[in-house]
Amino acid sequence: MQDDINNIRKMFEKDLETYSKSGDFDELYLKYFSKTHGLVTNLLKKIPSLSAEEKRTFGTSINTIQNELKQAITEAKAAFKTATINDPAIDLSIPEVPLNSGELHPITKTIIEMNKFFRYHGYSIAEGPEIETVEYNFRKLNLPEGHPATDLQDTLFVKEPDILLRTHTSSIESRILSEYEPPLRVIVPGKVYRNETANASNLGFFHQYQGFVVDKGVTIQHLKGILEEFHKFLFGENVVLRFRYKYYPEVSPGMGVDIRCQFCEGAGCTVCRQRGWVEVLGSGMIHYNTLKMCGIDPEEYTGFAFGMGLDRLAMSKFGISDIRKLYSGEMIYV
Ligand SMILES: [Zn+2]
Repeated sequence: MQDDINNIRKMFEKDLETYSKSGDFDELYLKYFSKTHGLVTNLLKKIPSLSAEEKRTFGTSINTIQNELKQAITEAKAAFKTATINDPAIDLSIPEVPLNSGELHPITKTIIEMNKFFRYHGYSIAEGPEIETVEYNFRKLNLPEGHPATDLQDTLFVKEPDILLRTHTSSIESRILSEYEPPLRVIVPGKVYRNETANASNLGFFHQYQGFVVDKGVTIQHLKGILEEFHKFLFGENVVLRFRYKYYPEVSPGMGVDIRCQFCEGAGCTVCRQRGWVEVLGSGMIHYNTLKMCGIDPEEYTGFAFGMGLDRLAMSKFGISDIRKLYSGEMIYV
């Protein structure tokens, strides 16, 4: 036992010298005092099995070495700290260099910013499955079998004929309308899938930002109001909007929304393809049939919905020219 104590003391003297150079005193402490494998801890564990006489002889020695070693570590630690502060080679006044730890994706940043606006206006944010059933993706949204929008060419099926990759975030709208009671104000940002050939402006998937409101007495004026506010938030007070009738099967009436081209102020340029206006979203009053199929009484409640593509919005916001860059491994500094 006495040999063990002597050996530990010798080993500690060497270790103290080594660790005082690196300053890693926590590791040194654990080598001797770790609860599971510390060298001194192991000695302490042996005490209960010693005879009464051995306990008298070695008990004190073990306690002494314990105190000695702990004190030595504390002193070495303090000395190391003082030496570091006083070392002229180390200038502690130099400001810390921030680590380059990456950025949020441009799409994520856009979603966060837009969510702020809608949260302020009392909307909840919802997410849902990207693998969806035909029922929620098409049928409940007034898209019966054989409707052109359900064309097999555009839809990626996981398992025909019922399971697919959602083609729009409206699938979450039909899920929520089927599950919850109005009044409802909900935003759904998310990824959607189409069977498209990849090029500079199209990919097999993209992001949509969907919103809908269902309550008693909701009219198209409420829809126009929130869209006007939203575009001012996004593009500034001077934005000019144009509302026009447009057909979308899941809403009636449907309303397309354009903003006056911000590059040419309506005169016509390459960005707006000489039209003077840029289409930004589709919207409308939720179809009578959709409300009915989702179990909401269309005689009592009305609602509106709107949806927009996020990718092109993020591209124009961050000056990204090719949609594929949004999803490649290439670093884009924004
Ligand atoms: Zn233009």
